[in-house]
Amino acid sequence: MTDVLERFLRYAKINTRSDDEVKDRVPTTEVQWDLARLLEKELNELGLEDVRLNEQCFLTATLLTNTAKKAPVIAFLAHLDTSTDFSGENVRPQIIENYDGGDIPLKGKPGMLLSPKEFPDLLKYKNQALVTTDGTTLLGADDKAGIAAIMSAFEHLVTHPEIRHGTVRVAFTPDEETSYGIEHFDVPGFGADLAYTVDGGALGELEYENFNAARAYVTTHGKSVHTGDAKGVMVNAMLVFFEFNALLPVEQRPEYAEGREGFYHLWKMSAGCVEQVEGVYLLRDHDAGKFERKIQMVQECADFINQKYGEGTLTLRVERQYRNMREVLEPVFHVVEIAERAMRELGLEPVSRPIRGGTDGARLSYQGLPTPNLFAGGHNFHGPYEFLPVESLRHCARVIQRIIELYAAG
Ligand SMILES: [Zn+2]
Repeated sequence: MTDVLERFLRYAKINTRSDDEVKDRVPTTEVQWDLARLLEKELNELGLEDVRLNEQCFLTATLLTNTAKKAPVIAFLAHLDTSTDFSGENVRPQIIENYDGGDIPLKGKPGMLLSPKEFPDLLKYKNQALVTTDGTTLLGADDKAGIAAIMSAFEHLVTHPEIRHGTVRVAFTPDEETSYGIEHFDVPGFGADLAYTVDGGALGELEYENFNAARAYVTTHGKSVHTGDAKGVMVNAMLVFFEFNALLPVEQRPEYAEGREGFYHLWKMSAGCVEQVEGVYLLRDHDAGKFERKIQMVQECADFINQKYGEGTLTLRVERQYRNMREVLEPVFHVVEIAERAMRELGLEPVSRPIRGGTDGARLSYQGLPTPNLFAGGHNFHGPYEFLPVESLRHCARVIQRIIELYAAG
C-alpha cells in the first residue's frame, strides 16, 4: 500500500500552476493535464469504475457500493491546480522528521527561515514530521494534500473489501485558484447526492458558511461646462461619486470587519473626470437578511443622488455572485454532522469558522450539490512558507474513510 505522504510528494513535484490572466479556456494551463493524466492512470490501477478525464481536465471516477444497504452517493473533490500567485515549478519539498520547535532553514534560499516567531502555529506540531518548501516555490498542499488523502482513502477501501461502503464518487478539478474552473463542472452528470471539497487548511477545519456576495457597478454622469460659466450648471461626476460613497456606512468596511460582519468595499474606480466616474463595490454578508439590506442601501443611496441631481446622474447595476452555502446545507445538515462525528471518533475537535470569501463548495451547493469543505492539513497557502504536518495529512485520509463508513452504516 502506498503511503499517503509518498503520494503527496509525488503529486507535489508536478507543476500545476494555473493562470488567472487566461479567461477563455479551461484548463487555463496545459501543465494541469500532467497531474490529471497521472491520477487517471492511478484511479484505473485501483480498479475504480467510470474513470473519465474530460476535454476540460475534469477527472471523475466511481467506487461502486459493496453493501445492500441504501446509502446516498457521496463524493469528494479536490483541485489539481496550485495558486497563480507563486511559482510551482521544481518543487523540492523538505521533510523535517522530528520538529524541535525552532527555526527551519529553507535551504533553496540561504538565510530564509520558516520560524515560529512569525508563524506560531508551527509550535502545535512540535515532535511531529513536517513537509516544507525549500523557499523557492510554494508547496502545493493546497490542494495536493486533498488529492493524496482522497486517493489514499480510496486505496484503503479497495484493499479492504470487508469495510462496507456505499457508492462514492471522486472529482479532481482544474482552475480552482482562478475561481472560474468549477463553473464548467457538470453537476447533474456527476450524479452525487452530497459532497465534500477537501481543500481546507489546518487539522479539524470544517467549513460550511461563506459570504453572500454581490458587486455593485456605480457610474456617475456629470455636466462639464467652462468653469467661468459653471454656476448653477456644472455637475461634477467625481464629486457626486464621493457624495454617494459618503452615504454608505463608514464602519462597515472590510478594514473594520471580522467574523460574521459584512461590508461595503469600494474595490475599483476608474480615473475620473468631470464628465464621468465608474466604480465597483463588493457587497458581502453571511446573513441573507443583512445582505439584502446592503443591496437595498446601495439602491436607496443611488435614488437619493438621482433625486438631488436629476434622474440618470447615477446609474447602478447590482450583480449577484454567490450565496452562503449554509442555506443549502441547513435541510441536509447531516452532511456537516457526519463529518463532525467522523472527526470526534478519531479524536479530533472540529473547528468551524465562517469563510470570509467564497469556495467551490458554495457554487456547487447552489447548483444542487451540498458541499462543505474539509481540512487537508496545510498552512500558509500560496507562498514559500507553506507547510504540511504529516500527521494532519494522515488524519485527513482517515476522516474521509470514516465519513464513507458512517454513511454506509446509515
Ligand atoms: Zn485550494
